[in-house]
Amino acid sequence: RKSRPQGLIWRSVMAYDETNVFARILKGEIPCRKVHEDEHILAFHDINPQAPVHVLVIPKGAYTDWDDFAQRASEAEIARFIRGVAHVGRLLGVDEPGYRVMSNKGVNGGQEVPHLHVHLFAGRKLGRMVP
Ligand code: C5P
Repeated sequence: RKSRPQGLIWRSVMAYDETNVFARILKGEIPCRKVHEDEHILAFHDINPQAPVHVLVIPKGAYTDWDDFAQRASEAEIARFIRGVAHVGRLLGVDEPGYRVMSNKGVNGGQEVPHLHVHLFAGRKLGRMVP
C-alpha cells in the first residue's frame, strides 16, 4: 500500500486532487514563504500578493474547498482552523487596524487551487469587493 505523505492529513476523501499545488506544498515538494505552521494549519505568503500583506492559511486536512470543509470536518477541526486564521492575523501584527479574510469556492468564486484556503489581506484600507 502506498505510504501516506507527511504534512497532509488524510481521511476518507472522495474527490480531493492530491496533486494540487497546496497539497504539494504540504508534502514539502514545493517551497513556500512560511508565516506559521502547527499540527493543523499552514500559513504562507501568496506568491502574487494583492495587498501589502497577503497570506494564505490552509488546513492540513485534505479538503477541496470551504463547503467540503463545512460538510466533512469535525467541529474541533473547524474551530481550530478559524482560531488558527485569527492567530496568524495577530502573528502578522495586523489584527489592528484590521484585515480581510476571504475564501473563493468553485468556478464563480474564482477558486484556482482545489485545497481549502483563506486569503488574509491587510496593510492598507481595502476596497469594497476585491482586495
Ligand atoms: O482563491 P484562489 O484559488 O484563486 O487563490 C489561489 C492563490 O494561490 C492565488 O492568490 C495564487 O497567487 C496563490 N498561489 C501561491 N503559491 C502557489 C500557487 C498559487 O501563493 N505556488
